Amino acid sequence: MSALLEATDLRRHYQVRAGSGLFTAKATLRAVDGVSLTLAPGRTLGLVGESGCGKSTTGKLVLGLVPPSAGTVRYRGEALPAVGTPVWRALRRRIQMVYQDPLGALDRRLPVGRQIEEPLAIHEQTTPAERRDRALAAMNNVGLQPHQYDRYPHELSGGQRQRVVLARALMTGPDLLVCDEPISALDVSIQAQVVNLLLDLQEQLGIAYLFISHDLKVVRQVSHDVAVMYLGRIVEQGEAESLFAAPAHPYTRALVSAIPTIGPRRERLLLQGDPPNPVNVPSGCAFHTRCPFATPQCRAETPTLQPMANGRLVACHRVHEPALQVAA
Ligand code: SF4
Repeated sequence: MSALLEATDLRRHYQVRAGSGLFTAKATLRAVDGVSLTLAPGRTLGLVGESGCGKSTTGKLVLGLVPPSAGTVRYRGEALPAVGTPVWRALRRRIQMVYQDPLGALDRRLPVGRQIEEPLAIHEQTTPAERRDRALAAMNNVGLQPHQYDRYPHELSGGQRQRVVLARALMTGPDLLVCDEPISALDVSIQAQVVNLLLDLQEQLGIAYLFISHDLKVVRQVSHDVAVMYLGRIVEQGEAESLFAAPAHPYTRALVSAIPTIGPRRERLLLQGDPPNPVNVPSGCAFHTRCPFATPQCRAETPTLQPMANGRLVACHRVHEPALQVAA
């Protein structure tokens, strides 16, 4: 299947001031440092990792909202056009974003129905009556009632507001939604409803999702494939079911072993401490400061993603050693 989205060796570096007082110096913050991703039509790629690992910046890079320091993004085989050009605006109809905080993504002074119509006013020649009809149809698709068209964001629940955001994103018939922590601001009871809605929409409309989340339980539920990020790099990538059954990279193992489960669970691999400062990434394998399997080689040499027999990509010097094997 040909790729809908293909990101190759994406990098986003920022020049920042490090240190304090008189002793500051310029430093490079490597928010994203060589990320390559492929997403096929109608599929979901889960992008996971702790806060600050660069997953949200990756989402903005693939949308063109943040210019890359290096690397390329291709959509249906074509390079992403420059932001703000007519070609980019036309493309943005096909790629939409769903943010974590639906209230922050909506205008509190405007009825939600009018906000759902907005993409049509920007991208298509339509009459007000057509826009209203299509907004009502989109609301119906996401489980909102017609009388909620005239409601303001603060008059709706968190789950209903996220449905409004989804309805607005669907108005231009997108092929791809970049969902950045789309349920983490919602109550637990509402999260399942929004996840089910996303799954239904994918089945009905064939939309692909880049699903960015720190919640591995949800990522496991929605994703076909998963990429695990640590300090700006992908450390493991592969088919979701097998990755969750037998994670190979020690970082992935730690994340998966922390997922709450009912019944017997596999041995917990505890992560020590917080991720290092991305301005001062450790030498060699960036995970070596927290990895229980680290060796002198890990501190000196940076591992690159290598294919395993099962098609998985893993960046770890010791991944083939028996001590790191996990039974499926
Ligand atoms: Fe741990 Fe070394 Fe593998 Fe990095 S390369 S994950 S430090 S064993």
